[in-house]
Amino acid sequence: KREDDYLKGLETKIQEYDPKTANSKFFKDLPISSQTLKGLSEAAFIKLTDIQRESIPVSLKGYDVLGAAKTGSGKTLAFLIPILEKLYRERWTEYDGLGALVISPTRELAMQIYEVLTKIGTHTSLSAGLVIGGKDVKFELERISRINILIGTPGRILQHLDQAVGLNTANLQMLVLDEADRCLDMGFKKTLDAIIGNLPPTRQTLLFSATQSNSLSDLARLSLTNYKSVGTKDIT
Ligand code: ADP
Ligand code: MG
Repeated sequence: KREDDYLKGLETKIQEYDPKTANSKFFKDLPISSQTLKGLSEAAFIKLTDIQRESIPVSLKGYDVLGAAKTGSGKTLAFLIPILEKLYRERWTEYDGLGALVISPTRELAMQIYEVLTKIGTHTSLSAGLVIGGKDVKFELERISRINILIGTPGRILQHLDQAVGLNTANLQMLVLDEADRCLDMGFKKTLDAIIGNLPPTRQTLLFSATQSNSLSDLARLSLTNYKSVGTKDIT
């Protein structure tokens, strides 16, 4: 009952949040849960970067987002916080299966995202998993059906989607395409198209990139609906 009220209050704060007038400088000023805030502050994340300040409120409101900001600007938290908050507000539990999928171009980047997620998500009961190849597909399969937030490289994620069992995307709430420009540079266009074609169209999608190009616009058109662009001014 008390949680009901808390969640309703959070929902109202999000809808009423106006980035222009709010202009939050700190994570504690955002309409996010106290458990995420606690994880952030324990990891010493206090002040928002520009891309975080611009994109997180828009993502929290449920829009698709095309986020562009140079390397090192803090794009990881810009998508991990909305994922944690979405699943929290949906009261996602370990039995609800896959709620969010994050696609990253390389194993190293995927591992970094996973580490940040385990740090800031320490006060949630959600489970996170990494599929990056190198490990036996069978080994991954045993765990994958119980994972709520999955992070992986394009080839490996498609490999799991192509297997009839294990990865069930029917409930997927959020898709993140991270470092999308690099994914395209590395030749993952067809793989991304195939993954996106496999996912339920009702999901929210966040696409992050450090650069803009025609092929990136194509990917945005294919993967995003009614999206808002943020942070595009200071990149090429
Ligand atoms: P990008 O994906 O844009 O290249 P990252 O998300 O990898 O950037 O973040 C770059 C660095 O900045 C990381 O070391 C991260 O811990 C740090 N960082 C991100 N957001 C914040 C923040 N709000 N406050 C302090 N450090 C941050
Ligand atoms: Mg990044």
